Amino acid sequence: MFYTPEEYSIKDEQGKPFIDSQEIIEFLNNANPTKEEVSEVIAKSLGKKRLSLQETAILLKADSPELIAEIKKAAQTLKNNVYGDRIVLFAPLYIGNKCTNNCEYCGFRVTNKDQQRITLNSEQIQNEVKMLQDTGHKRLILVYGEHSDYSPEYMAQSVREVYKVKSGNGEIRRVNINAAPLSLEGFKIVKDSGIGTYQIFQETYHPETYAKVHTGGKKKNFNNRLTALDTAMQAGIDDVGIGALFGLYDWRYEVMAMVRHVNHFEAVFNVGPHTLSFPRIQNASQLNIDEKHFVSDEDFVKLVAILRLAVPYTGLILTAREPVNIRKEVLTYGVSQIDGGTNIQMSGYSKQSSDNQDLNLEQFEISDTRSLGEVIEELIDSDFMPSFCTACYRLNRTGEHFMEFSVPGFIKRFCGPNAILTMAEYLEDYATPEVKEKGYESIVRKMAKNDITNKEALQKKLDKIKAGERDLFF
Ligand code: SAM
Ligand code: SF4
Repeated sequence: MFYTPEEYSIKDEQGKPFIDSQEIIEFLNNANPTKEEVSEVIAKSLGKKRLSLQETAILLKADSPELIAEIKKAAQTLKNNVYGDRIVLFAPLYIGNKCTNNCEYCGFRVTNKDQQRITLNSEQIQNEVKMLQDTGHKRLILVYGEHSDYSPEYMAQSVREVYKVKSGNGEIRRVNINAAPLSLEGFKIVKDSGIGTYQIFQETYHPETYAKVHTGGKKKNFNNRLTALDTAMQAGIDDVGIGALFGLYDWRYEVMAMVRHVNHFEAVFNVGPHTLSFPRIQNASQLNIDEKHFVSDEDFVKLVAILRLAVPYTGLILTAREPVNIRKEVLTYGVSQIDGGTNIQMSGYSKQSSDNQDLNLEQFEISDTRSLGEVIEELIDSDFMPSFCTACYRLNRTGEHFMEFSVPGFIKRFCGPNAILTMAEYLEDYATPEVKEKGYESIVRKMAKNDITNKEALQKKLDKIKAGERDLFF
C-alpha cells in the first residue's frame, strides 16, 4: 500500500492533514488536567501503550510540582521496564559542511561566509574513523550538509569507506545517517551501502515558523521535508529517525507534533520511527534566531519525561549539545542513546581539538566535550550499562520485523546481554585498568540480577571475549 508523497504525508487515513496545527493547538488549549486524569494517562503509558494526542496534551499541560514529579517518576519506571539500564553509545562524524540551504539557526547555512567549507576525502574519512575506533566506538552517525556534491552515490561511497576501516580490534558495525531528503532512487542507493537509521529532523512542525527560519534552498519546502522519511520507508529503509529542533517554536506544540508524526508512521507503515531526537538550539556561527521560544532546563527535562511516556517503544537520542548535568538527569527519565567523545569540528577527531571549538569549522557549539572513556566511566558509576550493540540491525531485526520482538522480555533477553558483551569488548580493548575493573564489577552485579534470562550462555560468550574472540551477540 503505497501513496505518492503528496497523498500519504499531508493527509492520513482520516483524510486530514497529518500535521494539523489547529488540531494540535486545540488539544493543548482544551487540556486542563486534573490529578486523576494525569494518573490515568500515566497508567496507560506504564501499560506500554502509545499515548494519543489528547493524552499527551494532558501531560504537557500538567504543571503543578506534584504532577510533574509524578510524570518524572513514571518516566523513570517505564524506562527501566522497557529499556533496562543500558545506554547505547555512538559518535557523530561530519563528512561535509557545504550547504545550499539557509537555515537561520545553522552555522553551515549558505549565507555564512565565515564558515570554512570542507568535504572529507577518503583518506580523511579513514583517519577520522581510525581515531574513533581507537577509542572504542562501533556506531557512527555520518552528517552531511545539503549540496549537489553530496549525491546519494557519494554518500553511499562514504558509508562504504567507513565500514572498510579496521584498526586493531576496532570496526564500525553500524553507520547511521543524518542528511537531507533524497529521492526514492537516492534512498535506495544509500540503503544498499548498508546503513542503519536515516535521520531527518523536521526542525519545527509549525509551518509559519518553518517558513521564517528556512530562508533559502530546497529545505524551504515544509511538505517536502515532512514526506521525506515516508519516501525513505518506501525505499526500504525501515529504520528512520525523526526530530524537532527545540527553541524555534512552542515546545509543547513540537512534542505533540512529534507524537503525531509517530502515529502517522504507525498508521501508514505499521511501524513507528526507530528514534526521536529533540536537540535544543545551541550557539552557532551567525546564529540568527529569536530567543522567544528557547526551552529552559526545567521544561527540557519535563519534555523528555513526557516523550518517554508518550512513545514507550521509540528510542530517545540525546547529544553532546546538552551540558553534563542535564545529560545525567534525563538519562534517568528516558533517553536510551547518547553520543560520547563527540567532536563536531570538520576533521576534529584526528586533530584532537576538542578543547577549542571553532564555530567557523562546525555547525554549532557543543557543551559536553568529555572523552568516550569519561562518559563510559560516569555511566558505570551511575549503574547504567553502556552498550555498543548492533545485533538487531545485523540480524535484520529492524522496522516492522523488530516491532514483533518489541514485547516485554525481548529487550531483557537480547539487548541486556548484548550490552554486556559489547561492554566487555570495550573493557578488554580500550578501557584504563581502573575502568576495566569497575566495568567488570558492574557486569558481575548485573548478571547477579534476575532479569537476565540466558546467564549461562552469556557467561560462555564473555569467557570467549576474554580469550580474544570478538563480535559475539544474541
Ligand atoms: N543538512 C542536514 C539537514 O538539514 O537535514 C543535516 C542536518 S544537521 C547536520 C543535524 C541537525 O542539527 C539539524 O537537523 C538541526 O536540527 C540541528 N541543528 C542545526 N543547527 C543547530 C544549532 N544551532 N543548535 C543545535 N542543533 C542544531
Ligand atoms: Fe544546511 Fe542542514 Fe545546516 Fe540547514 S541545518 S543549513 S540544511 S546543514
